[in-house]
Parts: sequence; C-alpha cells; structure tokens
Amino acid sequence: MIAPDFDYDAVRQDMPEARVMRGEAYAAKGWVDLVEVAPTGVLAHVMGERGIAYVVEVAARDASDARCTCPDFAESGLRCKHVVATVFRVLDADDAELEAAAGRLSRLTDMLDMEGRDDAALLVDRARRDPALLRELEGEPVG
Ligand SMILES: [Zn+2]
Repeated sequence: MIAPDFDYDAVRQDMPEARVMRGEAYAAKGWVDLVEVAPTGVLAHVMGERGIAYVVEVAARDASDARCTCPDFAESGLRCKHVVATVFRVLDADDAELEAAAGRLSRLTDMLDMEGRDDAALLVDRARRDPALLRELEGEPVG
C-alpha cells in the first residue's frame, strides 16, 4: 500500500454537500499537488480560490486526523474543502502517480545533494510547507 486506504464515505460524513462538491472540483481542476504520500498519511499543496496554496495534511482512513492552513480550517477546525480535494485526488490517482509522489521529496533531496547543497535536507523540509520554495527547488518558474 502506497497511500492511506481512505474511506471516502467516512470522510464526507457530516460534511455539507456543497463543501464536498467544491473539494471534488478543486481536485478535477488539478489544484492538488501531492507532495508527500505514505501509507500513514498524505501532504499536499492545494490551490485556493484566491490563488494561495494551502498546506494540507491528512491521515487516518476517515481523515479524522487532518490539518489545513486555510482560514476556514483555522476558524472551525472542521475538515475543509481542501481536505476533501486531497483525499479525492489520492483516490483518483493511479499507482504510478502515487509512487511518484511517494518518492518526490527524497528525489529532490538527492538532486540538491548532487548539486553540492549541504543544507539539502533542511531546504526540502522547509519546502514541504512552502509551495513556492518547492517549485523553485524543483526548477519550475516561480510566479
Ligand atoms: Zn482548507
């Protein structure tokens, strides 16, 4: 098993349908960037309506252990549309995509090591929670 075995019905339970649909739409638009995937949990950068990427962490089959850096989550502590988007994206991904995401940060660390960065591990750890830094380190244009 590469990713958590999410139970989507349990994740959506007690959640307003509109929030679920927004989350699914975000995933369909490609706004979920899977940064770290492991059997115990997932970390993703999810783009929001205002063009700000939020950092989302989801663990447990029913996503009962979830965090997001968006204002909704900070206010309510309830699972937000970004959590739904992340779970939906994971369930929609094939094994190759999940494998790629699972090895992403270690590949980046290796690449920075080869470039002679002795702070590679530290930088990659910061990039987990910093969407702009991650893109910069992976060599994509920032903007
Ligand atoms: Zn959120």
